[in-house]
Amino acid sequence: MSIFQIAVDGPSGSGKSTLAKGVAARLNIMYLDTGAMYRTCGLCAIKKGIDAKDEAQVNKMVEDLNIEVKFEDGIQHMILDGEDVTGQIRTPEVSVAASDVSAHPSIRRKMVDMQREIAKSQSFVLDGRDIASNVLPNAKYKFYVMAPSSVRAERRLAELNERGDFSQNYDEVLRDIEYRDHQDMTRAVSPLVQVPEAIVIDTSRQGIEETQDLLISYLNEA
Ligand code: C5P
Repeated sequence: MSIFQIAVDGPSGSGKSTLAKGVAARLNIMYLDTGAMYRTCGLCAIKKGIDAKDEAQVNKMVEDLNIEVKFEDGIQHMILDGEDVTGQIRTPEVSVAASDVSAHPSIRRKMVDMQREIAKSQSFVLDGRDIASNVLPNAKYKFYVMAPSSVRAERRLAELNERGDFSQNYDEVLRDIEYRDHQDMTRAVSPLVQVPEAIVIDTSRQGIEETQDLLISYLNEA
């Protein structure tokens, strides 16, 4: 069968990663979480004491940025300077740094090149903010996943708590989500946009499995 890509874009906490990962498993194809790549860049800035908002400092960091994406049994691992940092990139601090760092063109160029290279070899579901609009404008299937910010904040809080992270309350999580939404949607380079041809999926309307069924039903129709 020929190689195809499914682009899944949407704001923070919309459930796009859960959806994309589940659909990839059901279709027996690969899944690439592009947010994990920007999170690793954010973590790199934190580790090196770089101000993620400062363009000049970030440009310098990109010159010797050493990030790899590895798949082990289909599971994505993020490697920074030879160290597996997959377990370190889900903290609130890294979320904000990822959003800040991803606004810089030098970072985006490097990550987008890597994403295109990875996705060309096999069929992939990719989730992110600019997959349909920029990374793979010719992807066969394009989805825009959303949910109200209150629902997204509740989910993010539950996720953090499940991981034993009680550093933020609901209002703080909501504030971070709205900060990231604003930044991701208004940045000059590759902002989060819903491309006209994307099919919109609201994940607050049904459960995880039903949402996967819905997406897969659109593939069958196309
Ligand atoms: O999806 P996730 O919340 O893990 O992404 C972390 C941050 O990375 C986002 O807030 C966004 O700023 C950035 N990102 C991006 N483009 C992508 C994926 C993520 O700018 N394709």
